Amino acid sequence: MTNVPELFGSLVFNDASMRQRLPKDIYKALHKTIAEGKSLDLSLANVVANAMKDWALEHGATHYTHWFQPMTGVTAEKHDSFISPTKDGGVIMEFSGKELIKGEPDASSFPSGGLRATFEARGYTAWDPTSYAFLKDGTLCIPTAFCSYSGEALDQKTPLLRSMDAVSKQATRVLRLFGKDVQYVQPTVGPEQEYFLIDKEMYLKRKDLIYTGRTLFGANPPKGQQLEDHYFGTIKPRVNAFMKELDEELWKLGVLSKTKHNEVAPAQHEMAPVFTTTNIATDHNQLAMETMKKVAQRHGMVCLLHEKPFAGVNGSGKHNNWSLSTDKGENLLDPGSTPYENAQFLLFLCAVIQAVDEHQDLLRICVASAGNDHRLGANEAPPAIMSMFLGDELTAILKALEEGGGYASQGATEMELGADVLPHFPKDNTDRNRTSPFAFTGNKFEFRSLGSSASIAFANTVLNTIIADSLERFADTLEGAADFSAALKALVASTIQQHKRIIFNGNNYSKEWKEQEAPKRGLLNLPSTPQALGYFLREENIRLFSKHHVFSATEMRSRYEILMENYNKVINIEATCMCTMVKKTIMPAVIEYSRTLAETALTKRQLSQAIDTSVEETLVAKISSCIAKLSERLTALSAAIAESEAMTDVTQQGLFSRNTVFAAMEQLRAVADELELIVAKKYWPFPTYGDILYSVQ
Ligand code: ADP
Ligand code: MG
Repeated sequence: MTNVPELFGSLVFNDASMRQRLPKDIYKALHKTIAEGKSLDLSLANVVANAMKDWALEHGATHYTHWFQPMTGVTAEKHDSFISPTKDGGVIMEFSGKELIKGEPDASSFPSGGLRATFEARGYTAWDPTSYAFLKDGTLCIPTAFCSYSGEALDQKTPLLRSMDAVSKQATRVLRLFGKDVQYVQPTVGPEQEYFLIDKEMYLKRKDLIYTGRTLFGANPPKGQQLEDHYFGTIKPRVNAFMKELDEELWKLGVLSKTKHNEVAPAQHEMAPVFTTTNIATDHNQLAMETMKKVAQRHGMVCLLHEKPFAGVNGSGKHNNWSLSTDKGENLLDPGSTPYENAQFLLFLCAVIQAVDEHQDLLRICVASAGNDHRLGANEAPPAIMSMFLGDELTAILKALEEGGGYASQGATEMELGADVLPHFPKDNTDRNRTSPFAFTGNKFEFRSLGSSASIAFANTVLNTIIADSLERFADTLEGAADFSAALKALVASTIQQHKRIIFNGNNYSKEWKEQEAPKRGLLNLPSTPQALGYFLREENIRLFSKHHVFSATEMRSRYEILMENYNKVINIEATCMCTMVKKTIMPAVIEYSRTLAETALTKRQLSQAIDTSVEETLVAKISSCIAKLSERLTALSAAIAESEAMTDVTQQGLFSRNTVFAAMEQLRAVADELELIVAKKYWPFPTYGDILYSVQ
């Protein structure tokens, strides 16, 4: 039996280790600098670094690294050993405060969106003391922010930390108006992570999975998710062994892995941790994704984190459960038992409503990627149109507040299950809505549009910033008011009136919502990444992020370039991979099969003209016409790739990638999938969906 409390955080230099190993005054000073958000002075850093090194050495470490999150979506690390030569030809193990605080990795090979040319390659990493250092594979990892020589953010963490400051500042102002003694407010997040597990043997036979993380070909298997028997189904022993080890590895790293279950699609699963601050949750989510991949390998499996590894079955997302919490632990989105009378809650709720309505574009942009485009807009994930679900009770309360009328609470009713042995419990006032991109779930909002492979940093940076902006405007209005209560009431009513169009409690997957209701309300619908990104650099957005010191205009332009370029590169890699697979494996296999059929027909006829060869002939004819079509579409895709590669403007290339290259990919795939269904299994060059999705038993 594993002793979980003992295992938990055993690879983390956490508060307990610091308290134990640092002199009392240093420990206190460190705490103070962290709480006040100040930077650390060098003498303090030297002591902390030394204690950290001793702890790491005792745990078998030989190296340290500044662990950071460049704009690649994954983490980066460059390992340095602790060794330092001595005069007598030996070494001692050293680690200074300077090395802890600052690193200087060469920044030239990370995406910068034109922020620095390769001749100005200098980049800096700076220690983020709010996220604990930890040990990974014998290396002490120090969470850091990453910026260019001129101080511009080149990573995910820097803007996230800035946005946390922004929302803390404004939320604190609002709370003081309610007479609250609050030092700071932290945004909190619990990200639910979906993933697929497949057998490694199958994976290695699919070039598309290896190069792009998703299948670029594949007809639907006879059994997909129609029977809905996988969701919450019994976990298979092999998967169970994986999940057990994953939990243990994550616990050692201090990740609060809590919930695990099977998801809707075959071979799909989920892990959800207990929520924490947006910064730590982001670091932990990166660690969770990395650990999932590593542990899967040890079990002869591969963990797929792509948003849409298989067409026709559900893809994977990440549900970002978000709220705000004060330093005293008060959850600002908790309505309590009488939400109608909870003015503070209602004001924070209004701040979210206003933010979501005003910044639909940013909420779509922060989840945009080539992979996630396959989910948003398909009937499995929230659509590319932003709206919010509040449930019946809150919606009724808001209506009463807007109209200035009273509200009679329905009260909580008892749940009646009809059998005396079953317990009775109060029924929740609102049911769930699984189709909404942004749903209130009792005491937090669940932002459901995030893709499974992306860092959660950008989405939370946007959430924190847009809500900071709402709160700032609210504080401005209320601080100057002669009669606080009257001003508050008027503010709530006018906010609801102006922004209620964003509230939608119905089915977000329905055609009626997408085609009639949402356009009637004037809501944005941005189905693809290039379309969504087109809104990023609008003047209002630049003003918003600069005002809250989250992104400078230069940083935004660089991010735009990086995101668009990434989209174009992904489409290019996928398209090129498809062409290679068609030329090198699909076509030869299909030709081989049709040759066998033709030869069979000829041999039969040689034997006797009376033998029926119609089946072979029909098949050969069908295959021949398909393969001609395949060849034609291959030529079209190759031409599209060439045209796209010649483009120098990322925006133009982005739209072309979507409208022409991606469209040509879909065309090519359709014929190949048709062929897969008629070509004999032993000729088909790689495992089919059925083989892969049911490969882990
Ligand atoms: P679901 O039923 O939505 O799948 P889960 O239990 O899988 O629920 O996930 C809910 C997530 O919400 C968990 O990660 C949980 O820690 C998180 N959560 C709960 N309260 C808060 C909060 N106040 N702030 C942020 N996240 C929260
Ligand atoms: Mg869940």
